[in-house]
Amino acid sequence: MVRSAAEAQRPLRIAMLGGTFDPVHLGHLRSAVELREALALDRVHMVPAARSPLRDTPRVAPEDRLALLRLGIGDTPGLVADARELSRHGPSYSADTLAELRETYGPEARLVMALGHDAFMRLPEWRDPHRLFELAHLVVVDRPDHEAPLPEALEELLGDREVDGVADLMAEPHGRLLRLALPSRMAISATEVRRRLAGGDSVRYLLPEAVESHVVAHGLYRDTNRDDG
Ligand code: ATP
Repeated sequence: MVRSAAEAQRPLRIAMLGGTFDPVHLGHLRSAVELREALALDRVHMVPAARSPLRDTPRVAPEDRLALLRLGIGDTPGLVADARELSRHGPSYSADTLAELRETYGPEARLVMALGHDAFMRLPEWRDPHRLFELAHLVVVDRPDHEAPLPEALEELLGDREVDGVADLMAEPHGRLLRLALPSRMAISATEVRRRLAGGDSVRYLLPEAVESHVVAHGLYRDTNRDDG
């Protein structure tokens, strides 16, 4: 992307979208594209977790999930498949990743941790959630089927951090919260994709074509009943 002189003066705007991406689907990718547009981001780092502290071990190896993510992103401008958590030992903590991104992009960069409403609801369970706000803004993306009201512990954690719009968010390098309804809310989940693949059902138009082809060619996600219950 070529930046105009005025834009070049402006601090960089960087987002991190972490997840298991088990596998990456069009809900993730379309959200990343629309998030980039909505916040005028220079780059969205999509960061697969080696092992999430709060979730079961993903179905397929980290290298496969990364390969699928790379295929899914293809040549999409501004989206980056970021492998840094796969080379770290132990569980993947988002704060460590944000600290590295802060180091790379400097103190003035507008750093955003983006997450869906479902992941946001579990924020009080994260290790040291206050540290996230010392490193980045949080931007919460609406997700169909995930619309529960915020638990009290979360309200307490948020205090008066919430802002109404992008301009207020981008006035500071970190520390604020914005809730966003993106234009194409998609009711796609990796759980449902895995369930369909395990049962031999179609996943056409839920995954990018290249991702579907790779999954089928390598027999990934076949024969598992783990997520049926
Ligand atoms: P699972 O079904 O296994 O929980 P998932 O589809 O939620 O997987 P994750 O890898 O856990 O995928 O998600 C990574 C991030 O993307 C999370 O912040 C999640 O809320 C968000 N996300 C996932 N699917 C969507 C979607 N369809 N629309 C918007 N955000 C999404």
